Amino acid sequence: MKNLRGMTYEDILQEVTALGAKPYRAEQIFTWIYKRGITGIDAMTDVSKVFRELLKEGFFIGAVDVAAVRRSPDGTVKLATRLEDGLLIESVLIPDADRLTLCVSSQAGCALGCKFCATGMNGFIRNLTLGELTGQVFAAQGLLEEGARITNAVMMGMGEPLLNYDNVIHFTGILTDARGFGLSHNKVTISTAGIIPGIERMAREAGVNLAVSINAATDEVRGRIMPVNNKYPLAGLVGALRAYPLTGRKVITIEYVLLKNVNDSTRDAEGLIKLLKGITCKINIIPLNPFPGARFSRPDDKAVEQFANILRNAGLTALVRFSKGADVQGACGQLAGECPSASHSAC
Ligand code: SAH
Ligand code: SF4
Repeated sequence: MKNLRGMTYEDILQEVTALGAKPYRAEQIFTWIYKRGITGIDAMTDVSKVFRELLKEGFFIGAVDVAAVRRSPDGTVKLATRLEDGLLIESVLIPDADRLTLCVSSQAGCALGCKFCATGMNGFIRNLTLGELTGQVFAAQGLLEEGARITNAVMMGMGEPLLNYDNVIHFTGILTDARGFGLSHNKVTISTAGIIPGIERMAREAGVNLAVSINAATDEVRGRIMPVNNKYPLAGLVGALRAYPLTGRKVITIEYVLLKNVNDSTRDAEGLIKLLKGITCKINIIPLNPFPGARFSRPDDKAVEQFANILRNAGLTALVRFSKGADVQGACGQLAGECPSASHSAC
């Protein structure tokens, strides 16, 4: 049996064709599944009963198992979803003015081992399937009040999206398909720790936004806090960003987690300015979100503003992302045993 919530339009087209149906059936089914969010095949009222029975023999609509929900007074909602094999993954809904952003996990755990990230400290378990990626949207939609809808999506939860490339790109395709979740391309962002081949593929294949976690201005510092830098050092990474095609008003988002006495000096800020020359970008500064066992601390607010101002004075756009939902993070973080990043406003 196959989960229709884990299938692309092309997958469905292939299946219905194999069942001897006309291509328009695929469009109907895809729309019912993702746009209308039905939970049973019988809800496809414009599909004949005979064909629905045929579908039921090989397909189902996977239910989502929301294991825990934590609501913060600031409006952030963190949800843990239980997967078929018992694993828990997290997603976060972040309301902000007229936006409602869903922060999605791409993997259970993460293999990249960044020293400031709880997910990285806990190691890698497995990639999430396409059904588990779309499942996070359905789980979040189930918690929305009447009339509310998700306006933005960011792949900034647990895991490295570009190491689960195919599923993530299929997922962003469904997010941005008018027959699917219907978000516009510039409302969907993939965040990477700097997997260069993935960035190069995205440059050719994906129409969604790119965010890159730079986090340091030299290989020396970056290598210490992000082991992935040893495989993909800064020169190659910024080269890939310079070559990245940007259409219209698009910019690359540069994420910079600020760690006290590690990457928060004036020299670090100046190094970052130099590094980013020639890249059309905006910088999101994220003061470290501490977690139990973290080896770093968060600079005080004044130091954070100072760092941001050096960048601004050099003509860069720098936003400070103060954490949202920090009060619900502990509880949920323990539940899934993972990433504080899923609960902060990098999302
Ligand atoms: N693996 C991807 C996406 C998930 S992490 C990536 O690294 O980009 C999403 C963001 O959270 C990254 O920018 C990461 O640098 C940041 N992050 C991780 N741990 C954090 C912490 N403890 N405090 C603040 N930001 C953190
Ligand atoms: Fe993985 Fe991103 Fe955490 Fe690094 S910051 S360990 S890449 S999830």
